[in-house]
Amino acid sequence: MIVNLDLDKKINVRTRVAPSPTGYPHIGTVYQSLFDYAFAKKNSGQFIVRIEDTDRKRFVEGAEEKIYEALDWFNLEEDESPRKDGLYGPYRQSERLGIYKKYAEELVGKGNAYYCFCLPQRLEEVRKIQQAEKKPLMYDKCCRNSSLLEAKKKVEQGESYTIRLKVPENQKIIVKDEIRGEIEFESNLIDDQVLIKSDGFPTYHLAVVVDDHLMEITHLVRAEEWISSSPKHILLYDFFGWEKPLFFHTADLRNPDKSKLSKRHGHTNVAWYQEEGYLPEAILNYLAHLGWSHPKEEEVFSLEEFIELFELKDLSPVGPIFDFDKLNWMNGIYIRQLTVKELSKRLKEYNHNLLKHPIEKNKDYEDEDIFERIVILSQSRISTLKDFFTLAQVFFENPKYILEDDKRSVAKALITQLKEIKDWNKDNIFLVFKNIMQDYKIRMPVLYGIVTGQEKGLPLPETLEILGKEETVKCLKSLV
Ligand code: GLU
Repeated sequence: MIVNLDLDKKINVRTRVAPSPTGYPHIGTVYQSLFDYAFAKKNSGQFIVRIEDTDRKRFVEGAEEKIYEALDWFNLEEDESPRKDGLYGPYRQSERLGIYKKYAEELVGKGNAYYCFCLPQRLEEVRKIQQAEKKPLMYDKCCRNSSLLEAKKKVEQGESYTIRLKVPENQKIIVKDEIRGEIEFESNLIDDQVLIKSDGFPTYHLAVVVDDHLMEITHLVRAEEWISSSPKHILLYDFFGWEKPLFFHTADLRNPDKSKLSKRHGHTNVAWYQEEGYLPEAILNYLAHLGWSHPKEEEVFSLEEFIELFELKDLSPVGPIFDFDKLNWMNGIYIRQLTVKELSKRLKEYNHNLLKHPIEKNKDYEDEDIFERIVILSQSRISTLKDFFTLAQVFFENPKYILEDDKRSVAKALITQLKEIKDWNKDNIFLVFKNIMQDYKIRMPVLYGIVTGQEKGLPLPETLEILGKEETVKCLKSLV
């Protein structure tokens, strides 16, 4: 297929996300995937997941499955991937080693790459000298001009080698980034990059270019950290004579102190967001809002609307600040938009999968009606699913606090008066509270603390109405 990459022409759009299975799924991968997915859907194209597992030292068993689990949770369904075969596979780089080797050798044949036999010890010595002389750390090109015939002989004799890119000297290399414009690089400052390592695996640089080309990727979205590698990739496209995809380097997500959102700073692990009880659709909205501005400056919008309005070229080149207060606010809005039934279902799933709270303290909570009444009481008061289980703790846990003597006598009086209520409803419960507050000259927060062990939370009469007379009295008795 011949693709015309002029931004305005109609082409078959193909985007990809290319995570490395080196640990837990990163929120940045979701950020990239969202843009890839939305742009592919908008253009009736394909969104591809390619697993870049060529760095065997950093490979983590099971990390690939975690990537799929994360994409599934966000409902960002890919069209092609190692688990969803298509016409351009295999989609896992470790299964494509022969392909990279062939292309690297093609470059050697053309004089654009060369065999290098330098051993790690030698490279380390060169590096130390450069460091001492405060020079850029680069390969000293020792093998660059050796005879190809000699080199091939050594290869045949089984000598260990790498294949390096022959970066031309004294050239300007222009990287055209569709978000930032043209970026110019001096070729003399670019290292003769290893393309094939001594273990036969390609480096990222060769593999990414070969795969993006063979998989007919038209729009390449990746993090800004890769801009400095782009000139090497541009050289490779030119050496192979391939048309380049359009490049979009997204700005890094940042902490409020402007540092890059990283493992040590901020929360990068998708699992953390799940554990905290965020809704995937709220996170996606928040991420979209971070990287892109809605034409009407709306903050809350659906994925469908985003897909309709979004253009990759409108992504912001400025690193957005990841503001957890804002995310909480947005998550609260999404929680309130859910029907009570749906919210109840998600809370139960969340509890089952993550919190493992003993909801069955009172068997009645398994009863849809009662659970939904607790949900109705809480829905406007929570920002995350986790909040619910803190706020409504009184329903799920026996009291764990101890009352001081003076408060214990209040609790005793409460028990007596509550027991006398014939018609157990919030109004009658409130009347008892009023009496007790008058008799003991205490205010609501104190009474609240006596009954729940917390300073504030759900409205107390309503809470006790749902908790039921028997359970309420039982809880209070355990405190006196
Ligand atoms: N494998 C790279 C990473 O995980 C992907 C870079 C790219 O998208 O080209 O960061």
